[in-house]
Amino acid sequence: MRFWLRCRGCGREFEPEKLPMCPECFEPLEVAYDLDAIELDRERLASRPKTIWRYRELLPIKDYGNVVGMRVGYSPLVKCENLGRELGLKELYVKNEARNPTYSFKDRPAEVAVSKAREFGDEVVACASTGNLGASLAAYAAIAGMKCYIIAPYDIEREKLAQIASYGARIIGIEGTFDDARRLALMASEVLNWNVVNFTIRPYYAEGSKTMIYEVAEQLGWELPDHVIIPVASGSLYCMTHKGIEELKALGLVGEKEVKLSGAQAKGCGPIAEAFEEGRDEIEPVKKPNTIAKSIAIGDPYDGKYVLKRARESGGYVYGISDEEIREAIRLLAKTEGIFTEPAGGVVIGMLKRLVEEGKLDGDERVVCYVTGNGLKTMGLMTPYVHESLVKIRPTIEELKAALG
Ligand SMILES: *Cc1c(COP(=O)(O)O)cnc(C)c1O
Ligand SMILES: [Zn+2]
Repeated sequence: MRFWLRCRGCGREFEPEKLPMCPECFEPLEVAYDLDAIELDRERLASRPKTIWRYRELLPIKDYGNVVGMRVGYSPLVKCENLGRELGLKELYVKNEARNPTYSFKDRPAEVAVSKAREFGDEVVACASTGNLGASLAAYAAIAGMKCYIIAPYDIEREKLAQIASYGARIIGIEGTFDDARRLALMASEVLNWNVVNFTIRPYYAEGSKTMIYEVAEQLGWELPDHVIIPVASGSLYCMTHKGIEELKALGLVGEKEVKLSGAQAKGCGPIAEAFEEGRDEIEPVKKPNTIAKSIAIGDPYDGKYVLKRARESGGYVYGISDEEIREAIRLLAKTEGIFTEPAGGVVIGMLKRLVEEGKLDGDERVVCYVTGNGLKTMGLMTPYVHESLVKIRPTIEELKAALG
C-alpha cells in the first residue's frame, strides 16, 4: 500500500478509508506514506507542472484520474526587500497565497478533498467554514459537478458569502460561532450522510496544506527557512507544515535542520496563544470570538495542543495579535510590498513585527511569512481608511493644485 492512516496520538494504523479520527483514542489521524518506496528527486520534480500535483506521490489520491481542478500550486515566494529593510531583516519572504484560484490557501486542501471525495464516489460535499474553505470547496465542487453545502456563521464577511453563492453552493448561515457550525456539520455527516470534508475525510483534506512548505523549500533551492510564521485557526496548516518538513527530510530532499514554527492568532480568539503566553498545557476554548480576523476565529481548535507542543519544541512562539495591530500590519504589507491581504495575513505580519520588536528574531535569519488570503475578500474592513488618501475635486488644474497644496 502506498499510503494509510496513522493516529497522531497512539500511533495505531488503519486502512485508508473514510475515518475522521482515531476510533481508539479520538486523536487526529494523519496520512502515512511508504517514504522508502518513493523515488522523488530534485531533477524529476523540476520537470513537472507547477501545481500541487507535482508532489503527487506525497498526496493521498490512489488514482490520479480522480484529481479535480489541477489549478492550485506554486504561489509566489516574494522576497520582501522593503519590509525587510524596515524591520531590519536581511532575508524575509512572503508566501503569497492571495493569488490562488479562489484567493486563499484553502484551495490546496479543497482541491485534495474534492478529488478524494470523487475517489470515494461521493456526489455531495460539505464543510463547516469561516468563509475561505467554503469558497474553495464550492469552486472545486462546481468543477467536479458535485452538490455543495457550506455551513458557516451567518455574520462572516459579505464578500465571502457573495463569492460562495456565485460558485453555486448552498449556504447554511447559522446564528452562532464556527464551533456551532462544526457541531451541526458533524450531525449532518451522520444523519444526512454528507461528506463533510474537514471532518469525514479530514486526514486527506489536511494533506493539501503541506504543499505550501514543499514549495517554499523548492523555491529556496531545496533549503529550509529558519523560521516560518503561520496563521492558526484549527491548527491544520501549522501541523501540516511540520509534517511536510519531516517528509522532505526523510526523502533527503532537504538537509537536517530545526525550523522554528511560530503560530499567529488573533487576540480576540487566541486560545492557543493564551496557553502559550501563560505557560499552560491546557487550551481553554474561547466561547465568543471577537476579532476582525474572522477566517481564523476558531474558539476550540482541533489541532490546538499539537500546535502548542510543536511551537515549544521547535523554539517558535504563539501570539495573539490585536485588531489594531492587524489593521496596521495589513497596511504595512501593502505599502511596502504591494501585497493586499485579508486579516489572517495581517495577523502574521503583526506577529512578525512584534517578534522583531521583542528581539526574538535575528536579523540574519531566513524568515518566511504565510500570507494566506486576499484583501479583496474583506474589503469592507479597509474602506474606513479611504478618506486618508482620497480627495474629490472638479477636473481643473487649479483644483488639482489646491488639492495637492
Ligand atoms: C483557514 C485559514 C487559515 C488557517 O486555518 P487552519 O484551520 O489553522 O489550517 C489561515 N488563513 C486563512 C486565510 C484561512 O482561511
Ligand atoms: Zn489513537
